Formats: sequence, C-alpha cells, structure tokens
Amino acid sequence: MSNQSLHQRRSAAMAQGQGALHPVYVDKARNAEIWDVEGNRFIDLGAGIAVNNTGHSHPRIQAAVQAQLERFSHTCLMVTPYESAVELAEKLNDIAPGTTPKKSVFVTSGAEAVENCVKIARSYTGRPGVIAFKGGFHGRTNLTMGLTGKVKPYKAGFGPFPADIFHAPYPNAYHGVSVEESLAALDDLFVCDIEPNRVAAIIIEPVQGEGGFYPAPAEFMQALRERCDQHGILLIADEIQTGFARTGRMFATEYSGVEPDLMTMAKGIAGGFPIAAVVGKAEIMDHPGPGGLGGTYGGSPIGCAAALTVLDIIKEENLCERALSIGERMTARLRQLQQRFPARIGDVRNLGAMIAMELVVDGNVNCPDPELTKALITEAGQNGLILLSCGIRGNVVRFLPALTISDELIDESMDILDRCFATL
Ligand code: PLP
Repeated sequence: MSNQSLHQRRSAAMAQGQGALHPVYVDKARNAEIWDVEGNRFIDLGAGIAVNNTGHSHPRIQAAVQAQLERFSHTCLMVTPYESAVELAEKLNDIAPGTTPKKSVFVTSGAEAVENCVKIARSYTGRPGVIAFKGGFHGRTNLTMGLTGKVKPYKAGFGPFPADIFHAPYPNAYHGVSVEESLAALDDLFVCDIEPNRVAAIIIEPVQGEGGFYPAPAEFMQALRERCDQHGILLIADEIQTGFARTGRMFATEYSGVEPDLMTMAKGIAGGFPIAAVVGKAEIMDHPGPGGLGGTYGGSPIGCAAALTVLDIIKEENLCERALSIGERMTARLRQLQQRFPARIGDVRNLGAMIAMELVVDGNVNCPDPELTKALITEAGQNGLILLSCGIRGNVVRFLPALTISDELIDESMDILDRCFATL
C-alpha cells in the first residue's frame, strides 16, 4: 500500500471539501510521532489540530477506553445514563474558571458545543443577537459558520446564515488594532447595528486560533466582561482550541481572571475521542428544559472514559507547566530562525504551546506570504515534519505539539524546520 495509491482512491471516493494538508496515510501514531503506510516517520507538531495534547495513543487512555468497551459502548446519556458522565461533569464544573457553581452538557464536536452555547444563551436571555469577532472560527455548521469571521474557505457559497449575528474587530497588536479601537467598534455596533438589550451573547476565542494565534489582551477580556455585565449579555469563551493545558493554563481565559458565563470544550478534552462540552453557570445552564439539549451520542461512555483519563494525565504529568516550557524552547529556536531570516519571518509569538510564526514579504507585516507558508509546510511534510497553517491570510505556521513531546523531539523538529526554511 502506498500513499500515492491511497491518495488516488481518496480523491475518487471522498469529497474534496474535506481536504488533506499532507498526503501521507497514517499507519500508527505514538506520542508526538506518526508512521505512514510506507513506514516513513514524522514528528507531528499538529497533534490532530490541538486534540492530542496528551500525545497519540497514550497507554492510559487506550486502557481506559478498552476497559469501557468491555463494559458497554453506548446506551445514550438521555435514556439510561452512567456514572462516568456524572463524574466528568463534576470535574469539568470544578476546573472551569470562576467560582460560580457550574453545570455541564455533553455533545460530540466543537461546533455543536458552540451551537449549544448560543441556544442556551438565547433561551436564558430571551434575546436573539450574538456578537462574534472578525477572524474568529467557531465551526462548520450553519450557525457556527455564521459566527465565523472569515469567508474563505469556511463560508463562501454556503449561506444564507442565521440573522442577528454581528462581528467586531479582534484586538491585534501585531497588526496595529488596539484594545481601544476594538472596544470602540464594539460600542459602535451597539449604536448602529443592534441595541445591547437585544444581544444574548458575545462569543470570543481567548486566543484566536484558525485566525492566526493572536491572544486577546487581559484588559480586553475584562472590558468585555464589564460590558456584558452592564447590558445583561452572556460572555461565551470558545476554548475549543485553547483548552486542556494547551496555553500553559487549563483554560486560556484564566490569564485574564475573567469568569465566562458559558464556555465550550472539545478537541484536547479526550485525546481524540469525539466528545465536547458546554460548561457554564448553573442557573443559565438549567434554563432549557429536558430534551432541549444533547443528542444521541453526546457524552458517549467511551468519550467520558477517555476524558476522565486525560484530566488525570494533565494533572499527574504537569502538562500546564510542560506547555510553558515547550513554548519557551520552541520560540527560542524560532526566534533564532527569525534573526537569520528577518525579511521573511515577521513575528514569532505564543501562549504556552500554542505557537505561531508569521511569514511575510520584505519584513513588512502588511505583506503576508501565504505562498511561502504553503511551500514550507509541504517541504516540512516531505522531510518528516507535520506542520499546520492558520491565519486569515494563510501566512501563519502554527505549532501545536503534544504536551508530552520530549525536548529531543522538539530539537529535532526545529532542526528539520531550519533546514527546510533554508532551502526555500
Ligand atoms: N471553535 C474553535 C475555536 C475551533 O478551533 C474549532 C475547530 O477548529 C471549532 C470551534 C470547531 O470544532 P469542531 O471542528 O470540533 O466542530
């Protein structure tokens, strides 16, 4: 079996909309390494897009899932529930930022978690409006596409989208959008587009993920909290990409000290088993009546078993601290690379192990270089290194290593990156 023959079969059998960045077909994956069907080995700095925070095939997760499979695989949480879901909810309620008592609801994907946040917020406030941010990403369902603040490839041709959704600018020091300007634009929305008493929620990624890895300054998060309190609007933190130790804290919102009313959790929650959650203030979460939330597979027992183990691993293996040291080690190397190629690397930034390198033309922050980004990612893939891109202009290389990656593998991956960069 070869990558090429599989890729041909894939092209014939699968819609191109679910495109693959690297045409290598996985045979097995362990911690931060992947082997393809031809026996080639790759260092994986994408972690399944921030899912395998605890590494691929963690033996404890494998064992927990295996043990669960031997007991039962599905009964439906809405029909005959089970203890692991209750325990997971208790633990998530405990670790969610803030002190207000929390409750959880389980679904299967990030987009569904976002959808459910909006449902709950609309149900609780009785208001229709939702404010999201330009450059933000919240998923590929109709409502979450509407919330997403980037047209191509996520929205173009897929409308119409639900009404009453508005977008404000996300603060971005690198591109010269100050906190004050973002807040002024948000206040303008309240004057020009929708009165605040018709807004149910403001949804924000505490670090914009697909949009380019820009952390929201703490004062911006705090100002959003104040505006929400002032107008009875709910604050939703979309922690789908930032959650579960990725940024050096369990959740990135913790950096601002802000308590969101509702938050989304997915991706890193269960090491690859499809489970996601909305966790929020108990009074708000309980507003929709029985049957209004959930779904057939929401909170599957296998997902719960995996997620409970992920929480243990994060704690016992100190993965929050490890995310910080990974971030330091990788950005030190990326900054050395930037010094060698200042005209092509406009910025290196990170929050913990959510790390980005922005590629530009002639050192100009306003001249993105998506072609160089694509070429680098392809070259890296051909040299045993899996990288991802992001950014509304497609010129950001993002690094999301497993938080269990060794220093040796980090150094080896950076050596490959150096060599690839030098050839372009
Ligand atoms: N929200 C954020 C911040 C994300 O990064 C993503 C996925 O990348 C989603 C929502 C959608 O999650 P899913 O792909 O699981 O539906």
